[in-house]
Amino acid sequence: MIELKTPAEIQRMHVTGRFVAEVLSEVGRLADVGVNLLDLEHHVRGMIERRGAESCYWDYAPSFGDGPFRNVICLSVNDAVLHGLPHDYTLRDGDVLSADLAVGIDGWVADSARTIVVGTAAEEDLRIIRATEEALEAAIEVARPGNRLGDISAAIWAVARDYGYPVNTEFGGHGLGRTMHEAPHVPNKGKAGRGLTLRPGLTLALEPWFARTTDRIVYDPDGWTIRSADGSRTAHSEHTVAITEDAPLVLTRREPEHPATQGESAARLSTKDA
Ligand code: MG
Ligand code: MG
Repeated sequence: MIELKTPAEIQRMHVTGRFVAEVLSEVGRLADVGVNLLDLEHHVRGMIERRGAESCYWDYAPSFGDGPFRNVICLSVNDAVLHGLPHDYTLRDGDVLSADLAVGIDGWVADSARTIVVGTAAEEDLRIIRATEEALEAAIEVARPGNRLGDISAAIWAVARDYGYPVNTEFGGHGLGRTMHEAPHVPNKGKAGRGLTLRPGLTLALEPWFARTTDRIVYDPDGWTIRSADGSRTAHSEHTVAITEDAPLVLTRREPEHPATQGESAARLSTKDA
């Protein structure tokens, strides 16, 4: 069943969304060469506790996981892209880190993910991150009343095709609100003009993710971490978006959203871009 939210309920999700954005900004600031994934996990755990928020991941036990999950954030490095289990790993120069976070505040959930490079960024890594960010913005742009779910899927797929990245259809976006995963499923590949008609009050997590040279995935022995089947590097960008009478409302927008790199290299890049 698809539950449409009232404007007041969307405002409550926005409160959660702002907190998720704040945490992912903080993860972006802290993630650096020499930082252990477990330090990031514990820092985020502290932020969640202080805010009185509730982790959607803690005790999460879907059919595919070797659950229950006992962490509050997913941290996926390099060829890992989804559900990365925080573990004892120290980030190295040039690592690609995807951070995915879903929490609830007062019963309303928001879900967002971002990918960054720590230290020296390879151009090909920045390119795939940019592709997922552009695909996400293209998807948000068509998240308007009267459009179809297929328009969102087609918008993501078109950007992937332009960049030459294959698209996996096993994991994609989803509805959310009172819980992390609600109907409908939002595939990252599909036909424009097909599927559910979008209506005001529909709240969706849109989440393009790509691997450079494969659309196939493999699971780690931990039962959670999902990697590209050929070991190629990956990226993942996600926002929680509300469809309204007016423009799409991005509930997890970070200010500012960029850059995708940290420290000195980030400063260099933003100078070049400006
Ligand atoms: Mg997520
Ligand atoms: Mg999600």
